[in-house]
Amino acid sequence: MQFNKFIPTSLAAALLVSACSEDRSNPPPVTLPEPQPTALSLPAQQLESPWFSDGRATVEAAREQVINNTPGAAKNIILFVGDGMGISTVTAARILAGQQQGMSGEEYQLSFEKMPFAGLIKTYNTNQQTPDSAGTATAMMAGVKTKAGVLNVAEDVPRGDCAASQQRPLVTALELAESLGKSTGVVSTARLTHATPAATYAKVPERGWESDDGLSNDAKAGGCVDIAAQMVALAAGDGIDVAMGGGRRHFLPESVTDLEGKTGRRQDGRNLVQEWQQRYGDGVTNAVYVEDQAGFDGIDVAATDKLLGLFESSHMRYEADRGNDIAGEPSLSQMTGKAVELLEKDEDGYFLMVESGRIDHGHHAGSAYNALNDAVEFAEAIQVAMDATSAEDTLIIVTADHSHVLTIAGYPTRGNPILGKVVGNDSHGEPESAPATAEDGLPFTTLSYANGRGFADLGSETDADVRYGLPVDAGRQDLTAVDTTAPGFHQEALVPLESETHAGEDVGIWARGPGAHLLSGTNEQSYIFHVMARSGGLLAD
Ligand SMILES: [Zn+2]
Repeated sequence: MQFNKFIPTSLAAALLVSACSEDRSNPPPVTLPEPQPTALSLPAQQLESPWFSDGRATVEAAREQVINNTPGAAKNIILFVGDGMGISTVTAARILAGQQQGMSGEEYQLSFEKMPFAGLIKTYNTNQQTPDSAGTATAMMAGVKTKAGVLNVAEDVPRGDCAASQQRPLVTALELAESLGKSTGVVSTARLTHATPAATYAKVPERGWESDDGLSNDAKAGGCVDIAAQMVALAAGDGIDVAMGGGRRHFLPESVTDLEGKTGRRQDGRNLVQEWQQRYGDGVTNAVYVEDQAGFDGIDVAATDKLLGLFESSHMRYEADRGNDIAGEPSLSQMTGKAVELLEKDEDGYFLMVESGRIDHGHHAGSAYNALNDAVEFAEAIQVAMDATSAEDTLIIVTADHSHVLTIAGYPTRGNPILGKVVGNDSHGEPESAPATAEDGLPFTTLSYANGRGFADLGSETDADVRYGLPVDAGRQDLTAVDTTAPGFHQEALVPLESETHAGEDVGIWARGPGAHLLSGTNEQSYIFHVMARSGGLLAD
């Protein structure tokens, strides 16, 4: 369907019809207002501005946008979740990405910002105004909101209650896709057992049950199973076809030391990597397990039916820190490209969830540098998927599970480094020669946090988590001699907290492909599932 190009005419007709139907007894003739003369003619400085011509061209392009309302038209669905990628993070990442390419930055567009449809999503959990990632991921994956901290169990299940959780599980979009014979995949830079990836397959009343060491004896006695064990035993269809991320420790027993020198966490002695290989490595299916960059690079797509990649004991590295990995690990965009290559072999289509898990972790540690560089890599991964798929049959959705308390503040001049101190404009609108000072006489950065551990100057350190080993240092600092654009700079924070927190405002959602237009407007997070289900034909009507 195309947008009606003659809305004024049809609107007038509609007005006539409704006017006639309101009064049937000898109605007076309808008098329409005289056509107005065309609008004021515009001066050259307006018509010839690139802002003006770009705006007109963008309207024309938007009018050509195809809307596909056919249920089931989305043979493939890719859901991209930027964990903690609030609106301010998107804006700052856009500016950073543009500045990394030599532009002033504000005008740059991240890959997903070129998608034709966008909207807003309300992220609260059923019991929290500002949400956690387990409840939000459940909303997206199962189509119902639930409590903070629980995965794919109904909202009336008390957190940590094994027995109640067994009575009230929810079915996920990934399971529905599996049951229809589609291929499925999960990719994350966090542990595959962490809240967002776990929400594609696991049902637990406590997100901390990543391996059996996290469960109480009562929970174990009650028959509850940890998240990693649920992943390798997933019953829907033939189980997950492609899984890549971190979290090796939750799949390995305490007795096993991995290739990067870290021991497993499992107390039940089970080696879930071996169990996964035994489940699928039956001589018919070719199941491939990889755990480093070399293994990843060696994947033979044509000869691989099932792929499990566990590249780190805990979370994978921040993108800016990836070069420091011991065994080497792929980037999110590399993993995304490989996942699409593997999944698109299935002519029944696929469901893929890709999470950039560490935007969130960078923010929690008060490091805009790490959060934004991971967001830029996330945009790269989305570009890879956009290039590898067609908007005719693939619905790509990009969103965040929740926001963070990052602010973009002050009046920095155009093109001011987004990680820099605020340099304002003078009375002629030209950049000042030195950073602005606040009422306390000190300079300040464009980016800061409302709460968290606060300032640290760790120089060239590219791992934001090092910040946790140093004291909380909230409030104002003298940044005069500090390079705030350095990887190891941690922004000032107002309220001292052990860790910076999530934020409660809406997040953005961007979409391309069949059903993408349904995500326009302001919607509940659980609505995302229903767009995927309808557009992908995941539910019987
Ligand atoms: Zn978080």
